[in-house]
Amino acid sequence: MENMFDGKVRVGISSCLLGQEVRFNGGHKRDTFVTNELSRYFDYQPFCPEVEAGLGIPRQVIRLIQTDRGDRAVNSGDYSLDHTDVLTGLADELLPSLQGLCGYIFMQKSPSCGVFRVKSYHQQSGIPDPKGQGVFAARVQQLLPWLPIEEAGRLHDSHLGENFLTRVFTLSDWRKNVQAVPSIARLMEFQSRNKYLLMAHNPELAKQLGAELAAVKRDELEAFLPRYRQLLMQILARPASRGQKINALEHVKGYLKNHLSAKEKRLLQQIIEDYRNDQIPFVVPLTMIHHLINVHLSDHTYLQQQSFLEPVPKELGFTNRT
Ligand code: SF4
Repeated sequence: MENMFDGKVRVGISSCLLGQEVRFNGGHKRDTFVTNELSRYFDYQPFCPEVEAGLGIPRQVIRLIQTDRGDRAVNSGDYSLDHTDVLTGLADELLPSLQGLCGYIFMQKSPSCGVFRVKSYHQQSGIPDPKGQGVFAARVQQLLPWLPIEEAGRLHDSHLGENFLTRVFTLSDWRKNVQAVPSIARLMEFQSRNKYLLMAHNPELAKQLGAELAAVKRDELEAFLPRYRQLLMQILARPASRGQKINALEHVKGYLKNHLSAKEKRLLQQIIEDYRNDQIPFVVPLTMIHHLINVHLSDHTYLQQQSFLEPVPKELGFTNRT
């Protein structure tokens, strides 16, 4: 089995976030978290839909307007110049390479790339409604509903950033260790390694996924793989709450209990309670559990391999803030 964080993960990205000067005014929107921190783990596939649509640099600003055909991406100075079909068509053309991605980071607020709360203007009053979505990003999401998608600006929020990266690294793990050489045994092993992580995000759907997997026969495997990936990403799309993380920690504690001294059990329980009361970050119970596993279960792979204990590289520091 390949390590979750070995090798770089292929991730799509709005070109301007890498510092490429592709914006309407010839500028960029370099995001240093993306270019400095995440680039250690990600192999980016940059794409600027407006440039690829032939709109040039510099170019007229595009905006979303409300129409009876839904939001359209038009030239802000001349609404009759509608670029929507060209921009969405690019996503369809790109589909073969999009299929190989484990995530996509989009530029916020853009009528082409924005994912959340993009302004869409009423044609007569000119009043904006912040409920739109960039037309290229919307088409990518429609074509690949399982693909982890996030805006660069939201990655700076600890919970949203951790959730996106958890989905990206889990999907990468799935590609390397299941999709590349699929078998029921590999799928079972993947499910087992991710048991506590899935439980922490959505216990009900995690149970359903386990039940569906248990019923799969060898000749049904190929058809089941897309279904498994869809449910897997759906489970992780719901951020793990503090209560659900505590529930998973309690399960890990239960697994460890026969190996711990009375003093270690009390200490672990106290640390979980401190985390429950928001007095310490998640990294503290995780570090304690890693320590106890190393001391008492050094050759026990089941717990050591649980992705719940490190779903995102610890060097990124998310568990210090959640
Ligand atoms: S937001 Fe998207 S369309 Fe706009 S400059 Fe960046 S990559 Fe190009």
